Amino acid sequence: MMHTGRHFLQIPGPTNVPDRVMLAMAKPVIDHRGPEFAELGLDVLERVRAVFKTKGPVVIFPSSGTGACEAALTNTLSPGDRVLVCETGWFSHIAWRRVAERLGLAVEYLPGSWRKGASASAVEAALAADSQHTFKAVVVVHNETSTGVTSRLSEVRRAINRAHHPALLIVDTISSLGSMDLRHDEWEIDVTVAGSQKGLMLPPGLGFNAISEKALAASRTAKMPRAYWDWDEMLKANKSGFFPYTPATNLLYALREALEMIQEEGLENIFRRHQRYGDATRAAVRAWGLDILCEEPAEYSNSLTAVVLPDGHNADRLRQIILEKFDMSLGTGLGQLAGKVFRIGHLGAFNDLTLAGTLSGVEMGLGLAGVPHKPGGVQAALNSLASSVAEVATV
Ligand code: PLP
Repeated sequence: MMHTGRHFLQIPGPTNVPDRVMLAMAKPVIDHRGPEFAELGLDVLERVRAVFKTKGPVVIFPSSGTGACEAALTNTLSPGDRVLVCETGWFSHIAWRRVAERLGLAVEYLPGSWRKGASASAVEAALAADSQHTFKAVVVVHNETSTGVTSRLSEVRRAINRAHHPALLIVDTISSLGSMDLRHDEWEIDVTVAGSQKGLMLPPGLGFNAISEKALAASRTAKMPRAYWDWDEMLKANKSGFFPYTPATNLLYALREALEMIQEEGLENIFRRHQRYGDATRAAVRAWGLDILCEEPAEYSNSLTAVVLPDGHNADRLRQIILEKFDMSLGTGLGQLAGKVFRIGHLGAFNDLTLAGTLSGVEMGLGLAGVPHKPGGVQAALNSLASSVAEVATV
């Protein structure tokens, strides 16, 4: 089918890239060993720290998010080390459990619900029982992109401290960074892992590790084989703004522009904006009479919402109809959720009317697909947005 206007890319990442960022990328590639690059490198490496709320180093890999997950593990651990990975959904499995197992780490997969965040008390119990301190790291996905559930990281940190356990805390913020609050230093996170293609409003292709002093110290004795992902070489080169290999030059131009935009809007305003989208989307889902997958209101994600379809209705068929009729992409159900849920991305370069359009497409699609629902979801979302529009700096 022919479509006019712009495609609605409402998956929970990659997200829509603002024109300002696209234009910033449209520059000639420069010598990555020359003075102009050094200036760019030093600038983005310094400024990106604010997004992680850290004073420590952040390294930037030319990679997808999974590469940055692998880097977090190989730089801090040794073959056979025990790692406690909290089950939260598809990404805790695919990006962490599976990667760690393939690397030869001994993964303890702490069972969890796909409708709730990581359990701080279960982490505390597992660590308290480990009197020999055999666990070397705890891995938590901050925002589980497959479920729309956000884990309460400050509680997990407190649980680790209560157990007086020295394990490193490794956190995946791939779909939360730049959309929901994340405090690398304050929450004593040892490695914060992120990607470019979601809240940072960039195309896919950059992976990030924010590194604590404790993680840096661990990397000096960690014995996992690593070459491309090695922090040490990266940090040495980064001191003068360079990379040990060819960086993704034009994505770094894009990052510089995105950081500028984030600074202009202000991180706290950005979080508030995402809170409004989350609230409005959930108001729509409730008005339709459908279920939000996340069961715990304190763990609602503000970057995406996973919506459960009634039994006997296939979410991928609904997504297909919406794609064909309205040129909008929504997130598919992953793993055990395949066909059961669809996911609405409401993160990144996004505003009130983008949300209104997105939810209108969903509501029309529900009708066309014959999914039983009540009308009025879009109206409920508009009411929710209107009720808070006066308090916010940006819409
Ligand atoms: N972790 C989370 C929470 C994700 O959402 C994703 C991707 O969506 C990944 C890991 C994997 O990242 P990538 O696909 O960029 O390798």
